[in-house]
Amino acid sequence: MSQTIAFIGLGNMGGPMAANLVKAGFSVKVFDLVASSVETLVKQGALASASASDAAKDADVVISMLPAGKHVKSLYLADDGLIHQLAKNTLVIDCSTIDAASAQEVGKALEEQGIAFIDAPVSGGTAGATAGTLTFIVGGDAENVARAHPVLSAMGKNIFHAGETGAGQIAKICNNMLLSVLMAGTAEALQMGIDNGLDPKVLSDIMLQSSGRNWTLELYNPCPDVLENVPSSKGYQGGFMVDLMKKDLGLAVDTANKSQSTIPMGSMAQSLYKLHSLAGNGQLDFSSIFKMYSAKQD
Ligand code: NAD
Repeated sequence: MSQTIAFIGLGNMGGPMAANLVKAGFSVKVFDLVASSVETLVKQGALASASASDAAKDADVVISMLPAGKHVKSLYLADDGLIHQLAKNTLVIDCSTIDAASAQEVGKALEEQGIAFIDAPVSGGTAGATAGTLTFIVGGDAENVARAHPVLSAMGKNIFHAGETGAGQIAKICNNMLLSVLMAGTAEALQMGIDNGLDPKVLSDIMLQSSGRNWTLELYNPCPDVLENVPSSKGYQGGFMVDLMKKDLGLAVDTANKSQSTIPMGSMAQSLYKLHSLAGNGQLDFSSIFKMYSAKQD
């Protein structure tokens, strides 16, 4: 019998991830605070739910894809949270990017009730979510990670077991701190080339075959009209919001403070993304940091 999955949080990432579970043949019950996001999924074959608790009723697996730790803690641990409702042996998979301490707190509380939990943040962006090629970076017991495999495989192509509960979040935060540095660095290099008369497409091609090559340049170029179908060529709409990157850099700085790690580049990227958000760009894709460098030409 096919498993029933409750999917909570149908935003830029959760929407296409839930759609891929439907395509793979799972029975998927969906909920989001935004009714139109639920309707979009229903058109793709999911079952609408009136609340998170309605979606989770009799579910074998619950997946959440929410903005931050406070949303995840509230979904599971609040007075009316799912912890009071889920049957023992339900598998909870939180795919949101949140602080490791919140993941550990939720995991411990659920596991004390006999409910299995893994943290499984993702990498690969909205394009990866749509194509079903996400990378899952998982923390939790090996047995639970193995149980989650068929479900995660329907949404992604790489599944890494980083360690115990919370380890997925630590690895994800390391990755996103590096991503922010690469994005800001790529934006400033492209703008310097443009300021000196270079065509950004030609410069991108050159750097892609040279030692400056990186993921942002290859798949997510921040300069408009260099690549098709990326946020920069669509007015920086969709994708990964500046405010979510700002949140992740806050998590990186907190993590570094706890472990007494030195992160000058990550701290600089945090300041840049904070300023960019304060200038009114919080809802744009994070590649819009390019506008900070190109502003004098607006
Ligand atoms: P988003 O803001 O587009 O989506 C979040 C969704 O959660 C929204 O639709 C919102 O209505 C819903 N929501 C919030 N609280 C809710 C609740 N209590 N019950 C039900 N629904 C609720 O964000 P996103 O881009 O989809 O990102 C989600 C998570 O994935 C974040 O933690 C983000 O850091 C991470 N992430 C995003 C990307 C990306 O490229 N967008 C990539 C990797 C990881």
